[in-house]
Amino acid sequence: MKVDCIFCKISSGEVPAKKILENDHAFVIADLHPQAKKHFLVIPKKHIQSVATAFEEPTEAKTILGELFALGYELAQNEKLLPGGFRSVINTNADGGQTVFHLHLHILGGEKLKDGFA
Ligand code: 5GP
Ligand code: ZN
Repeated sequence: MKVDCIFCKISSGEVPAKKILENDHAFVIADLHPQAKKHFLVIPKKHIQSVATAFEEPTEAKTILGELFALGYELAQNEKLLPGGFRSVINTNADGGQTVFHLHLHILGGEKLKDGFA
């Protein structure tokens, strides 16, 4: 069954968005509503709802999360977020603040971020 998913549509090109970085597994776009001076989303090409559903297949989950952080690290270098630093966030399900149910890693930086998570 095909899911109606904005990140799948961006991945396929059905919805246009500038892909800042891309490899066989994942791609990076700028967040539509940035919460920091620089705010990116690292998104797997495969539709996986969340970290929770990913770990229904633990071996695959470990691989895909590694891929997301690897691309996030490459992005951080390209965007000169290092050595200053950046924040990585993955929201899971409603209580975790997830609003788009296609797994994604937020990378925030470009300034000194405020402390705190909630
Ligand atoms: P979540 O709340 O699920 O962790 O994060 C979803 C993020 O996706 C939000 O920060 C939101 O601003 C961003 N977003 C939602 N729709 C779009 C879109 O169509 N394009 C882009 N670039 N970002 C989006
Ligand atoms: Zn999707």
